[in-house]
Amino acid sequence: MLHNRYDGLDTWKLRKGNLHVHSTRSDGGKTYDELVALYRAAGHDFLAFTDHMVFADAGRLSTPGFLCIEGIEIHGEARDGTGAHAIAVAPERPIRAPKDFDSGLDEAADAGAFIALAHPHWCGNSFGILDDPRFHALEVYNEVCEDICAKGTSADYWDWALSQGRTLLGVAVDDAHLGGPYQRYARAWIKIKADSLTSHEIAGSLRAGLFYASNGPDFLDIRRQGNELVVRTSPVVALCAVGRNGKGSRDRSLPPDAPITEAHINVAGWNADDPADYLRLEIVDERGRRAWTNPL
Ligand SMILES: [Zn+2]
Ligand SMILES: [Zn+2]
Repeated sequence: MLHNRYDGLDTWKLRKGNLHVHSTRSDGGKTYDELVALYRAAGHDFLAFTDHMVFADAGRLSTPGFLCIEGIEIHGEARDGTGAHAIAVAPERPIRAPKDFDSGLDEAADAGAFIALAHPHWCGNSFGILDDPRFHALEVYNEVCEDICAKGTSADYWDWALSQGRTLLGVAVDDAHLGGPYQRYARAWIKIKADSLTSHEIAGSLRAGLFYASNGPDFLDIRRQGNELVVRTSPVVALCAVGRNGKGSRDRSLPPDAPITEAHINVAGWNADDPADYLRLEIVDERGRRAWTNPL
């Protein structure tokens, strides 16, 4: 560990966006144009369209200052026998309409898409589903699954995969539908390094893990100083280092009305040559909202 992919974070040009949304082309309540207007007004820089089993040719909707990313949500029976969903975004060429989950993942991988297992807690997937090397990431947080039945967080799945030595990234998404009772949007996002706001640049930073996931707080700087990791954040009540099994630490504010904005984590005990000896950071603000780094 301690490659520290976040070196220089305080100088990065960060773009905020949501990688999972549904339109009227599947079971969403808004058109592409209406979604663009809503997310743009909410202060987002980009949005990936991920209708169920329908590839979105949405790139043409991009305008200066707002990027529309093409994508799809694939669902069906996974190799572990459970029903699974995955989002595939920012491919190098269109993804053909998939017949099923497995061939859909093959098609998305061949097209060069960034693929994330969607809401595994809500689906009831096995942890072992993450052995599939076609997944670059999982949704560590899915807003609609949290809203409808408290199954939005999948950090247990992530930690299991990371502790097997599997390098896996974590995204937070809205999975906004904006129909019926499901009206929440712009509640979960990633902030990603992108000097220019293009699908190609976002795709490169997705694969390199040059982003963090959040539904509230921010990481401002993460730098290595000798045996310490110095982490600066927006005001939070807990700043956690999470590692294999019980390895890790928690800096907490005492009393909770005096938030912390910086922590010094001793990382001398982490072995850079062991891929299963992972370290990721997770912060919690006073409203219980969280942000997650990728494994360092
Ligand atoms: Zn889904
Ligand atoms: Zn969805």
